Amino acid sequence: MPSFFDTSIDKLKGIGPKRAELLKKELKIFSFGDFLQHYPFRYDDRTKFYRIQELGSDSNYVQLKGKIVSHQLLGEKRKTRLVVKFRDESGEIELIWFAGAKWIEKTLRKDVTYVVFGKPTIFGSRINMAHPEIELLGENKANAPEGFLQPVYHLTDTLRKRGLDNKIIAKAMRELLTQMHPYIIETLPTEICSKYRLIGKYKALLGVHFPINHETLKQAERRLKFEELFFIQLKLFREKKINQNKFSGFVFNKLNTLTTFYRDHLPFDLTNAQKRVIREIREDFLSGRQMNRLLQGDVGSGKTIVSFITALMAIDNHKQVCLMAPTEILATQHYEGLKEFADLLGINIKLLTGSTKTKPRRVIHEELENGSLQLLVGTHALLEDKVQFQNLGLCIIDEQHRFGVEQRSKLWRKNKPIPPHVLVMTATPIPRTLAMTIYGDLDVSVIDELPAGRKPIKTVHKYDASRLAIFGFVRQEIQKGRQAYFVFPLIEESEKFENLKDLMDGYEAISRAFPEYHVSIVHGRAKPEDKEWEMQRFIKNQTQIMVATTVIEVGVNVPNASVMVIENAERFGLAQLHQLRGRVGRGAEQSHCILVTNVKLSKNSKTRMETMVRTNNGFEIADADLKLRGHGDLQGTQQSGTVDLLVADVAFDGPILTEARKVAEAITEKDPNLELPEHEGIRTHILSLKKSTINWGRIS
Ligand code: ADP
Ligand code: MG
Repeated sequence: MPSFFDTSIDKLKGIGPKRAELLKKELKIFSFGDFLQHYPFRYDDRTKFYRIQELGSDSNYVQLKGKIVSHQLLGEKRKTRLVVKFRDESGEIELIWFAGAKWIEKTLRKDVTYVVFGKPTIFGSRINMAHPEIELLGENKANAPEGFLQPVYHLTDTLRKRGLDNKIIAKAMRELLTQMHPYIIETLPTEICSKYRLIGKYKALLGVHFPINHETLKQAERRLKFEELFFIQLKLFREKKINQNKFSGFVFNKLNTLTTFYRDHLPFDLTNAQKRVIREIREDFLSGRQMNRLLQGDVGSGKTIVSFITALMAIDNHKQVCLMAPTEILATQHYEGLKEFADLLGINIKLLTGSTKTKPRRVIHEELENGSLQLLVGTHALLEDKVQFQNLGLCIIDEQHRFGVEQRSKLWRKNKPIPPHVLVMTATPIPRTLAMTIYGDLDVSVIDELPAGRKPIKTVHKYDASRLAIFGFVRQEIQKGRQAYFVFPLIEESEKFENLKDLMDGYEAISRAFPEYHVSIVHGRAKPEDKEWEMQRFIKNQTQIMVATTVIEVGVNVPNASVMVIENAERFGLAQLHQLRGRVGRGAEQSHCILVTNVKLSKNSKTRMETMVRTNNGFEIADADLKLRGHGDLQGTQQSGTVDLLVADVAFDGPILTEARKVAEAITEKDPNLELPEHEGIRTHILSLKKSTINWGRIS
């Protein structure tokens, strides 16, 4: 049954067929519902009158109250302009019109009070305002006795050219708001509304389009954001519940090898956070349901050992495990680190990457299929169809952000009918708020503690001109027996030659500056075996300096390296800078990170550098990153599969999200099928949305 909100937009008074056509084409507005959700993107403040004296060069749109002193038409015929001297009790300003000058002049009167609205421009002591809105005091009063915020709607040039301006939209919107009153259904239970101080749905819609002051606007926005986030969270919780019932998972209850490992081989005490996460995973393994868990832990927090312990749980229960890493270097390093333990425990472990030769590859395939290979480490080469397991019980994916959801599900399908458990590990902390909206289908574990004895990395920001001093500092550190990284912006296969030149120039300069030391170089264009060879030399301290691109960004572990110099640091994003910095600070020594930039920095770059200098906390950095980039950008890039939000913004609405999530979870627990009478509104709303699968927060 089509609802009132499905009504075609041409039926709205003030719109009609011609304008409807334009709205469809330009703004994808088809129905009353679409139109209603064309929310203002800004409000002109008509709640306050400014005094002319108060105006400064930074004044945005302002409203003035005063009288016309004089008016005058100036200039040649075609270029006539109207200049009006306008004053209040504090000063005087010039209002100027270039278009419609004659017509406007005719309407002006001297001895009455006008309200003027516009953006002032200041030239020395003179202030003027071009093309202000001007009306007699009181003309607009009917609607809002104590002033109001005037909605400004997003429009396109075509719409404006065809005469569909803000005034028309606002007027039609008022009409719609009046008409729709009886059709609005309250979607949230009364109890929730009063508990969380949420205003009613109708009031919120009215308040977001025509707020009478800042307070009513805030209340309206809060209500709509809450609702939007609530329905998304509700959907995630309900889906999760369905999945939990649908996918059974292997039960891992034997712990023989793991017990031996704990008793005889564990190289250090686990941190409390590591222990907690291991417990959470173990509970999943005993639950009989498939695990889908995201493990977040800052760089150096010790995720690798957790993944190994997790792998042992599967192996102890006669299941195979694969661990997938995003780069060859990282896969190799994981393999070598884990092989030490695996050998002690008599576990068969192998490495599979793009450069694995045919013969060992064949052995791997065989051993996987006959079940004798227990732990396979590799790159995305693991995803190839030829790679078939006898009984895959657990997939561990390191550095999740490099792999898409697609790839995750490819691994899922490598065991049938019961899918393997999945543990996804990431060192790029996703702000909690974002994780809640995107990874609602994953359970999240966090290692929020670094192993004891680590000294926080000291970070400084320097300009290019300090190069000699930087080299001097690096030399001092190397003389103490440490090693250093110099990182240059990315060279990917597709990138241009100039970048390689930057790196090569840097390499030469560094080699010249440090004739007494050996310098390695690694970049994305180098052959895997060359990269590997250079990495190994650095790991063995045969070279003291590593000049590299971001290929070393992820996971590489050389505890003796204590200095990280990042060149052209302004060209890296915050997440990447944090990742890079995480390559040092892995040993007991004091580590340093030096961010080197040009003197001329954009505001955004400055904030990034300041954030890095201020904090080592990955979650704080992730939050700052989200705020700088806005979540829209995150959607477009790596975080595919995000929901599109209309009113809420996860970068800033964390507290509302947390509340909405709590409510959604409680409701899913208490009433999974939404059968209780107080959930009638929720149920109706979801039903009316069945067709649009995207955003449950939307009205339809
Ligand atoms: P990440 O979480 O970045 O992958 P790693 O697993 O590489 O971190 O661990 C970083 C370093 O810390 C490694 O050298 C590892 O052996 C060491 N480590 C991990 N857990 C502990 C611990 N509980 N106590 C001491 N050192 C630890
Ligand atoms: Mg790691």
